Amino acid sequence: MTFKTMITVKAIQCPNCKDTIYSRAQHDFHNCSCGAIFIDGGFHYTRVGWDPAKGAKSPPKWVDIKVKSTMEDLYRDWNTGMDKFGTIKMKPIKRKRINENKNRIRK
Ligand SMILES: [Zn+2]
Repeated sequence: MTFKTMITVKAIQCPNCKDTIYSRAQHDFHNCSCGAIFIDGGFHYTRVGWDPAKGAKSPPKWVDIKVKSTMEDLYRDWNTGMDKFGTIKMKPIKRKRINENKNRIRK
């Protein structure tokens, strides 16, 4: 059994496909699904880019995200091509249920 720690990584979100991406290692040049933004440099330095032609008209927004892993595991994930980390897909939000509390009086 291995215990994972939570680490905070700097990530960016694509305005187009809504992927949140971060770089896991110094040479992890990481694109979002649609290819409009990238992040590079891992924990050594950070380089980001965006492509207006693909829908990213301004620099992507920075977000701090917590990842249940270690820096070593993130490096291994990138280095071995497992790709379990690095991209967080936006989950489709389906709210078709009728909100039962809709008619409650707000305080
Ligand atoms: Zn994208």
